[in-house]
Amino acid sequence: MDLDFTPAEQAFRAEVRDWLADHVPSRLPSMDTREGFEAHREWEALLAGARLSVVSWPEEHGGRAASPIEWLIFEEEYWASGAPARVSQNGIFLLAPTLFAFGTPAQQARFLGRMARAEDVWAQAWSEPEAGSDLAALTSRASRVDGGWLLHGRKTWSSRAAFASHGFGLFRTSDTRHHGLTYFLFPLEDVTVRPIAQLDGTHGFAELLFDGVFVPDDLVLGEPGQGWKIAMATTSSERGLTLRSPGRFLATAERLVALARDADPALRDRAARCLIDAEAYRLHTFGAVRGELGATTSMGKVFWSELDLRMHALAMDLLGPAAAETPWFDGYLFSLAGPIYAGTNEIQRNIIAERVLGLPR
Ligand SMILES: Cc1cc2nc3c(=O)[nH]c(=O)nc-3n(C[C@H](O)[C@H](O)[C@H](O)COP(=O)(O)OP(=O)(O)OC[C@H]3O[C@@H](n4cnc5c(N)ncnc54)[C@H](O)[C@@H]3O)c2cc1C
Repeated sequence: MDLDFTPAEQAFRAEVRDWLADHVPSRLPSMDTREGFEAHREWEALLAGARLSVVSWPEEHGGRAASPIEWLIFEEEYWASGAPARVSQNGIFLLAPTLFAFGTPAQQARFLGRMARAEDVWAQAWSEPEAGSDLAALTSRASRVDGGWLLHGRKTWSSRAAFASHGFGLFRTSDTRHHGLTYFLFPLEDVTVRPIAQLDGTHGFAELLFDGVFVPDDLVLGEPGQGWKIAMATTSSERGLTLRSPGRFLATAERLVALARDADPALRDRAARCLIDAEAYRLHTFGAVRGELGATTSMGKVFWSELDLRMHALAMDLLGPAAAETPWFDGYLFSLAGPIYAGTNEIQRNIIAERVLGLPR
């Protein structure tokens, strides 16, 4: 595998690094508060102004048509600079690849640019109280009416829906388990949004209650009944590269090594192991996007979520009670959720066993 970057890639890295050094805001309030949500939107509008919000997208939608390698470089610089997590991440990293693949030109023109500038912030409305891991069991329905559909039902654990403007979700349009699902885009203004407080008291999630919400035909993504196939394209973005790029874990591992510099040897060893694993994940990812490794998104998901847990648990051991006053503590609480969201790690292990290793069910 060629590990050298081309002069153009190095120049891109330098440009991104310089811009971030001049513009990254000092720590923003949590995006799970109204104030923090707005502050994050402003930051992302600034990024968009420098055409650094969605570097891999086509220029007509606000990107730079950057290659996957350049996108990984951007991510490394982004996280190394201490820039904040993206309030638009579910839109940019989950919905957008799906919109590029399945959306009509009119849907793309209507939504992508606004998403890139954080004018619209999208929430993922998939999970239901009885349909999380077994997503095909969902019972929220859409019924046909003149010119569109009426949505009924209840979605839960929708990240950032407490403050977001739009949602994307699956609804049952016929009783066939996998072939009876349709993928809808909808503004949240007509949906009842019930915020759910998380461990730290902020409203990181919401329940969405649909009581006959009208959605016109032009907000169906793909064809009616194709929702499962389209959703599976979204999940591979979610588990794989785009939601948790290696730059994020590398930056955390490097900060952890700095934190452990004067600790006892056993703790220093744990920090070194994390850095090696973060570097291994990085190299695996660069290899995967160059098409030289047979990457599978489920394996990556188990790896990054367990690495993130180990890194933050070590930070708690290093800092003790003083951790509560640092960003490490927020990161620790969030890392606990890593094995759950984007499909639980038990489900990923089932997929690896059956589809990668070919073991019997
Ligand atoms: C931080 C966070 C953010 C989230 N954001 C969103 C969001 O934005 N939008 C959204 O729609 N959802 C979101 N979710 C929900 C998430 O996708 C679900 O929690 C997840 O899919 C698991 O579903 P569940 O909670 O219903 O658990 P269940 O499916 O009820 O599972 C309970 C336990 O049983 C295990 N299990 C279930 N079936 C099997 C099986 N066949 N084999 C082995 N073990 C099994 C699971 O692994 C798990 O440990 C988020 C969750 C978290 C924690």
